[in-house]
Amino acid sequence: MQRVALYNLGCSKNIVDGERILHLVKNAGYGRTDDPSRADVIIVNTCAFIREAKEEAIETILSAIQAKGDRPARLIVCGCFSERFRSQAAAQFPEVDLWAGVNDWEALLGGLFGASPDPCERVLSGPRATQYLKIAEGCSHRCSFCVIPAVRGPFKSRSIGSILDEAHWLEGKGVRELILVAQDSSFYGRESGTTLAALLERILAATSIPWIRLMYLHPHFVGREVLRLIAAERRICPYFDIPLQHIAEPLLRSMRRLPLGKGIRELIDRIRSLVPGAALRSTFILGYPGETEAHFRELLRFVEWARFDKLGVFPYSPEEGTAAEKLRPRPRRSTAMRRCEVVMLLQREISREINEGRVGTELDVIIDRVAEDSGYSLEARTRFDAPEVDGKVLIRNGSLRPGSIVPVKIVGASDYDLFAEVAPLRKRETQYRRS
Ligand code: SF4
Repeated sequence: MQRVALYNLGCSKNIVDGERILHLVKNAGYGRTDDPSRADVIIVNTCAFIREAKEEAIETILSAIQAKGDRPARLIVCGCFSERFRSQAAAQFPEVDLWAGVNDWEALLGGLFGASPDPCERVLSGPRATQYLKIAEGCSHRCSFCVIPAVRGPFKSRSIGSILDEAHWLEGKGVRELILVAQDSSFYGRESGTTLAALLERILAATSIPWIRLMYLHPHFVGREVLRLIAAERRICPYFDIPLQHIAEPLLRSMRRLPLGKGIRELIDRIRSLVPGAALRSTFILGYPGETEAHFRELLRFVEWARFDKLGVFPYSPEEGTAAEKLRPRPRRSTAMRRCEVVMLLQREISREINEGRVGTELDVIIDRVAEDSGYSLEARTRFDAPEVDGKVLIRNGSLRPGSIVPVKIVGASDYDLFAEVAPLRKRETQYRRS
């Protein structure tokens, strides 16, 4: 049997694409191997969002070329790096047999392997109990620093029917936490005559998946209908991942991001009043062209005021073909990095205080795996923690299957993690039903 190996890079949306690509090749009769040097087909599914992602894509392509060596294996590069740079890259990497983009891989690989991609089924990676479901492709916003609209095209919602088919399939595979993702999940349905709230209602009605999480919400499109639904439905995690990018108005205008400062503060107040106890995650870009020390200080004051539960920061990465690329003056990268560090030092204190405030409380967690840290038995997350980007809960006692959702008593806290014990008499699963 011929074998395929996959390097799957980038964001959750790209990971889902890679899983579908692997499913297509397996449907064509290929087995799977984790050792590219023994594979007959090597696939590199790339990201090209920012500088670091491009560097990782190139390094991985070079490793794949080495793994291919002079064997008659086929090397295929997919994803955003291929979509963006395939014409130049083809000359640079002649060892690559096929460059497939994000908008034509289905046709190109379908033709090559004589198998059509399945709209739902894919080869799942990561913990089985927690899986991503992509609800739309592309983005129609025009943020000045971002390449995604140019790479992935305009926003296109998937039909509710195809999303429900995939949710059913995932539920059948044992999924307990379904994470809905898109470039902007809050924009779902706006171009196809439905809404995110309607989609959530349908998923709640059609499945019994206990935890549903939303990621990548745009601050301009988080509507009250969704807030009220999340407040009313325990199965939807009260977790708001809303990249804000900055708070200083001249920068938000230059970034082409709405709302501006006042609107952002009102949104945060609205979420906290309509969904008490909600967790807020955000991300900021530091060192964007035109950012002054005063803008940076304003952002620090805002982070202090907002007290985000989770926060990520990125140094500005000038991207070819974006509106912001030619803007000046641009702070030096070292300045951007220093500002990132200062924001995260402040956030670390805030995160610790929030975590310490949870000590003594009882929270539901989903078990992810047996703990790597020998002092603990299990690793889990609360409804306030997304996988891979947020903190975890380390549990001292108990042996529970991954995917179990149980109440634990929080007995300790660190900057980003919590320590817990499974509530003694309550080892059984917490039941999540529609309210
Ligand atoms: S909303 Fe996100 S994906 Fe869309 S252009 Fe802005 S930063 Fe890029």
